[in-house]
Amino acid sequence: MQPCRLSRTACSWCVGPRPNFRTTSVPGKSFNYPRGFQTAPTTPDIAFAFDIDGVLLRSSKPIPGAADALRTLQERGIPFILLTNGGGKHESERVAEISEKLQIPLDPSVIVQSHSPFAELVHGAFEQEALENKCILVAGGDGDGCRQVAQRYGFKSVVTPGDIFNAYPDIWPFSKPFKDYYKTFAQPLPKPIDPNDPSKSLKIDAMFVFNDPRDWGLDAQVIVDLLLSSQGIFGTLSEKNGKSDLPNRGYQQDDQPPLYFSNPDLWWAAAYHLPRLGQGGFREALEGTWAAVTGGPAQGVELIKTVVGKPYGLTYRFAENQLLRNRARAFRSKNLPPVKKVFMVGDNPESDIRGANSYKSEYGSEWHSILVRTGVYNGGQPSYTPKTIVDDVQHAVNWALKTSV
Ligand SMILES: [Mg+2]
Repeated sequence: MQPCRLSRTACSWCVGPRPNFRTTSVPGKSFNYPRGFQTAPTTPDIAFAFDIDGVLLRSSKPIPGAADALRTLQERGIPFILLTNGGGKHESERVAEISEKLQIPLDPSVIVQSHSPFAELVHGAFEQEALENKCILVAGGDGDGCRQVAQRYGFKSVVTPGDIFNAYPDIWPFSKPFKDYYKTFAQPLPKPIDPNDPSKSLKIDAMFVFNDPRDWGLDAQVIVDLLLSSQGIFGTLSEKNGKSDLPNRGYQQDDQPPLYFSNPDLWWAAAYHLPRLGQGGFREALEGTWAAVTGGPAQGVELIKTVVGKPYGLTYRFAENQLLRNRARAFRSKNLPPVKKVFMVGDNPESDIRGANSYKSEYGSEWHSILVRTGVYNGGQPSYTPKTIVDDVQHAVNWALKTSV
């Protein structure tokens, strides 16, 4: 097995054939050149990042021209990455679905989902110590699909709110009608909740909302319990809570587990004719509850948290690093000329365009935003102004290639 690109441990994400590239022999050397090249190519100095929903697919159906656009880039050896606020599945599963729908070979390393940056926390990142051997809470998603994703990233001890409810149904009595659902995937807790002996009680070291919560009430209650706890120990209450002489009035000042959200989107486009509340809606509900519990901003209390996903720079930086790693691997060199321009093609001005416009590359690349008309954007003045507006992804790629020659 090769080392995983994210968890840096052996995993199945990074093994197997590289379908985008084939081996080509040249005198004295053997290289993997991008598919379609007959001779050594000039290393391209542009790259692309594509949103998926509303750009490549719409309601799971391919958008006309999307597959041809990606194929053109593959044939020219121009690297691209798929950058989505979606998630809930492992990257390899998600990319296999997209590959089948578009009928085009794609390597799992070309996709960055909303929760992909969390994999870096296995060995420490974002000023957070390594969590590989710590106990983390993973909320959101169907069943325990997100637990399985987290475990494949390399987190060794993963608890879900469903596990806690299954062991202690009184923690949120309003979920009792769903107990049969939780039984289908709940796992035993690594430790019990023991209010009489906190040293033996379940302790959570970090909390992740990996995907949209299915049971907002249970997930919110479990997260609030931990935010109010002493050191993330279930069943405890911090004595610092409400102390006005402490920062944040003492809230989240007692080694409570840090809280991470993977996707800021308030709305998302589903099959229903009106947009549906996304993970951003859950976060706003939790922020409102937290303000009611603590006094909120009026009392100088905030909810301390980290949010990743588009439009946040942290996600764009992760995507750019992934893009450059893939490029170096494809051309078998770490000394390639820099990427001058990355074209970000998206349908959502609030996330795709806003993120690309505000991102400052560490490598000096210019991120050029291109808005398409095949998704969320339906004309008029967009809330965040793209550098270019075109009809669809194929026009975006053609335009970018023409202007980059
Ligand atoms: Mg979209």
